[in-house]
Amino acid sequence: MEVFHTVSEFKSWRRALPPETRVPFAPTMGALHEGHASLVRQAQLLAADSGKVVSSIFVNPTQFGPQEDFAKYPRTLEADLAALNAAGCDAVFVPSAQEMYPSLATAGTNTLAGGVSIDAGPLGKVLEGAARPGHFNGVCTIVFKLLNIVQPTELLLGQKDFQQQAVLRRMCADLDLQIKVITCPTVREPDGLAMSSRNRYLSAEDRMRAVGIFQAMSRAQSQYAAGERSAVVLEATMRIWLSHRELATQYAVVAHPETLDLWSIQPARLITGPAVLLVAAKLGQTRLIDNMRLAAAEEAAR
Ligand code: AMP
Repeated sequence: MEVFHTVSEFKSWRRALPPETRVPFAPTMGALHEGHASLVRQAQLLAADSGKVVSSIFVNPTQFGPQEDFAKYPRTLEADLAALNAAGCDAVFVPSAQEMYPSLATAGTNTLAGGVSIDAGPLGKVLEGAARPGHFNGVCTIVFKLLNIVQPTELLLGQKDFQQQAVLRRMCADLDLQIKVITCPTVREPDGLAMSSRNRYLSAEDRMRAVGIFQAMSRAQSQYAAGERSAVVLEATMRIWLSHRELATQYAVVAHPETLDLWSIQPARLITGPAVLLVAAKLGQTRLIDNMRLAAAEEAAR
């Protein structure tokens, strides 16, 4: 596996590949776990024999708010490189903040002032975007830059960050990027907790309570599979379960997977089309997000 630290080194490697090369790309912020590895393995399948799997590790300062965990975000570069190598990655881009944002004065905040950046639009202002103002502008800007540098054929994203993949899909469509976006399933711990780099912040007791997020969504999913179509009822089910587990709910909603419009504010508050459960909850200082696509009984059984 090749490791590149500068844009120019990476670009020279990329330019030397034959033009028809398949280049699936999975960007990350490091602190890698099985969820990230699953994206790289999926990329490996797409690349087959002649393609090149690319990943990146970059803790992007512009997607963190001033009060967020940028400084303490886990950085485990050596283990990450070993994990990418083992998962079948061919090249990894590991730039510094200075390399990615040479003109950014205040690293560590989501201030993109002074430079050109991407506005994530209305999808970037709700839910996570409302809780983390400017977050998705930072995500779009860094991913757009990475796509320009890497020039991938496919962009692999995790369903774990559901709104992120919805926003980035929309960015690729609206800005006419010729890249296929592939969303990969969420990898979970045996008890159902979605793997996340932030899980390592949890105390042993909070780790036990954290599974309440998955349980809350599973209960709502069971109700849906049994025929319940009221978004209000499903949201109440999730909230009650989360509060029973002493999780501080930030949101627990049923949304349309592409527009992220809430089914609970539609006429009659009924779910009449595709839907996803989206949850954000805090345990102590740690904020976790998760989601689950709603499936009717026959789909859920598959
Ligand atoms: P991050 O390093 O948190 O920025 O995540 C990098 C990529 O890995 C994103 O596309 C995430 O959605 C994806 N990812 C993170 N956790 C998981 C998981 N548990 N299962 C699948 N993909 C994940």
